[in-house]
Order: sequence, then C-alpha cells, then structure tokens
Amino acid sequence: MSAKSVASFTDYFIDLEKKYGAHNYHSLPVVLKKGKGIYVWDVEEKKYYDFLSAYSAVNQGHCHPKIIESLIEQAQELTLTSRAFHSEALSKFTQFITTFFGYDKVLPMNTGAEAVETALKLCRHWGYAVKKIEKDKAKIIVCSGNFHGRTLGIISFSTDPTAKNKFGPFLSGFEIIPYNNLSALAEALKDKNVAGFLVEPIQGEAGVIVPDEGYISKAKQYCADANVLFIADEIQTGLCRTGRMLCCDYEKVRPDILILGKALSGGTLPVSAVLADDEIMLTIKPGEHGSTYGGNPLACKVAITSLQILKEENLAENTATLGNFFRDGLKKINSPHIVEVRGKGLLNAIVIKHSDEDAAWKLCIELKQNGLLAKPTHGNRIRLAPPLVITKEEIKNCINIIEKSLKVLD
Ligand SMILES: *Cc1c(COP(=O)(O)O)cnc(C)c1O
Repeated sequence: MSAKSVASFTDYFIDLEKKYGAHNYHSLPVVLKKGKGIYVWDVEEKKYYDFLSAYSAVNQGHCHPKIIESLIEQAQELTLTSRAFHSEALSKFTQFITTFFGYDKVLPMNTGAEAVETALKLCRHWGYAVKKIEKDKAKIIVCSGNFHGRTLGIISFSTDPTAKNKFGPFLSGFEIIPYNNLSALAEALKDKNVAGFLVEPIQGEAGVIVPDEGYISKAKQYCADANVLFIADEIQTGLCRTGRMLCCDYEKVRPDILILGKALSGGTLPVSAVLADDEIMLTIKPGEHGSTYGGNPLACKVAITSLQILKEENLAENTATLGNFFRDGLKKINSPHIVEVRGKGLLNAIVIKHSDEDAAWKLCIELKQNGLLAKPTHGNRIRLAPPLVITKEEIKNCINIIEKSLKVLD
C-alpha cells in the first residue's frame, strides 16, 4: 500500500464515525483493531504501546488468554438469566469476590457509574435505616475535582463545568469540599445529617492527583468517629493499578463501601461491583434496586478469572516496582517541558508546561507517531498508565520514546 492510501484508511474510519456517531469524545486520530497484552494495532497494522489501558480497565493486558477462555466458555453455556432467577455463576461469584476482598456482601452492576449510584443509594438507605437521619435529609460529602461517572446523579456533584453545566437541574444532598483537605472534612462532618464521604484514593481523571500520605487513613478515622460511611471509589485505582490490590491498602484502610469496576473484567465487558458488610448491604430489600445485566453469568465468570490473574501474576508487586522505576526514568529525562512527574504504581501523569496551550495534545500525536498511545486530560496533563503486565525492558523502551517525542516541543 502506498503512503497515501494508508493514511486514507485511518481517515476513512474516522470520517465514518464522525458522520454516524455522536461527537461526545475527542479521540486521538488512531483507529485500533487488535490488542494483545500491552500492545494494540491500528488499521494500518502499526503497533503501539498502550499507555492508557482503557482508563485502567485492561490492567491484565489486552485479550488476556485466560480471561478470553472464561468468556468463551461461559458464552457457550449461559450468558443472561436476569435476577428473576438464580444462576450458578452468580452464586460462585458472590462467594469468590467477598472472600477475596473480605466483605459480607456484594452487589454486582455493570458500569462504574452504576456502581457509584448504587453506593450512593446504599449510603442514603443506611443513613435512614441505621443512623436514623430524618427522611430526605441525608447528605453525602464529595471532593472537588472528583470523577465518578456521567449519570445525572453523579454529575450533580461534579466540579467540572464541561461535564456538568448544560445538564441541569441537579440532584441535591451533596456537599463538595476540597480534596486532600482534612480540616474541611472535619468541618463538614459536624453536620449530623451526613451519611457518607465518597472519595477517590487518587484522583485519576483530574490528572492523577495523589493526596498527602495519611489523608486516606485520617479521613477514614474522622468518618468512623462521626458515624459516617467511608466510600472508596477504587474503579480506577483498584485492582493492582497503584501497586497494591486496592490503593486504600497503602494506608491499611478498609472502606465501609468499596466500589470496583473497569479491570474487574480485564477489559472484556462492563462489570462493576459494590462491596459492604451486612449492616449496610442488607438495608436494601427486594425491588429497591437492580439491573437486568447486573451479575449476569458471563460477567461473573469473567470477573472471577480477572481477579485470579491479578494474584497469579503478582501484578501488585510488579506494578509497585515498575512504577518506581518508571517515575525515576521520567524524572531523569530532564526536559524543560515536564514540570511534574507524579503517580503511584502504574497510574502516573506528567504535567506539561509550554507557551502553546495545545502542547500536551501535540506531544501525544508525536508519541503516537513513535508508537506509544497516551491521551491528555485537563489540558496539560498526560496520564501514563500501561497494562500491568508490562516488563522492565518495555518500560525502558517507552521512556526512550517519551524522551525522543518531547523534542517536538523544543
Ligand atoms: C471510570 C470511572 C468511573 C465511571 O466508570 P464508567 O464505567 O465509565 O461508568 C467512576 N469512577 C472512577 C474513579 C473512574 O475512573
């Protein structure tokens, strides 16, 4: 194929999507058709390192053979029953995941946003049934810069004008406090109507904002003292992404409500889950909450395998070690355009400083030319988060690609 026809191949698919799909994403101009481990290939057969991992959904690597095997096996057996009936796969999954994370109960959903909504409903319900908050008065504290999904309920407490502004009216019952600010939390907790505190242990979407050491454990303690549920959204930070099974593990914090998603299926289908103990979970009675696909047999089977792989392949340890190695390498690049390197495990970001406000986007285009896919968030931050099955050798290659690509900004 000539260079011209190659280029138009990509353009053809981009134009097609632009013509028939809604314009709710600003995607990098690359059209992918295949993935394996840490690599993806585009329609021109060009191979890339995937440094986004579908926002941490493919921690186990693209198309992990054991996950795909489980998927196919279950797909040939039974895929959906709805919750009108019990299923063998759901029974096994409930036992498996609660034992895995040490909770009494699990409530399975599909997308991350649904799991967050579920956690919020559970928290309010607990607030009325157990904490005895007056009807319709329950409050949930959240943090500025949060990202918990895209439903109307969730964007009601977003502080990102792009995510929120054109979609009102909004849901009430939320108080927004600054992230990583314990005195603001202490102040907000004085209100007896507070039922929960919803927090990301690291704010991924905001540009990988890592709070001070001790923030999570002290916040948990403050909540416990105020009889308020500590709700951790580990959809992006969980499942070994930051170098521990859960990011909360760094501070030995056990959330009252734990929210998981993304890598719970290793990137094969939407699977999310909310974990809590009986005092919280059993407040919800039949008919009060549910989802047709929530806890479907296919999801259950795939989720068990996806969790097993995290342990079998020691992905927490690999991630912790390589994360340090990666950040050290990035810091050594010593480019005037990188003003900050931050992160934990393999959830990292570089902050770009440049007179051109499109510099981060331009750098991502150059990275793409050089065989590495990453995407800017909030203008000047580039998230760098490869699948956790990456090796030290491959990380070294990627540091070289990043160093070389930065020259485009000189
Ligand atoms: C991605 C994400 C969500 C939303 O998950 P969806 O599956 O996109 O609905 C919620 N919280 C966090 C922290 C996330 O990263």
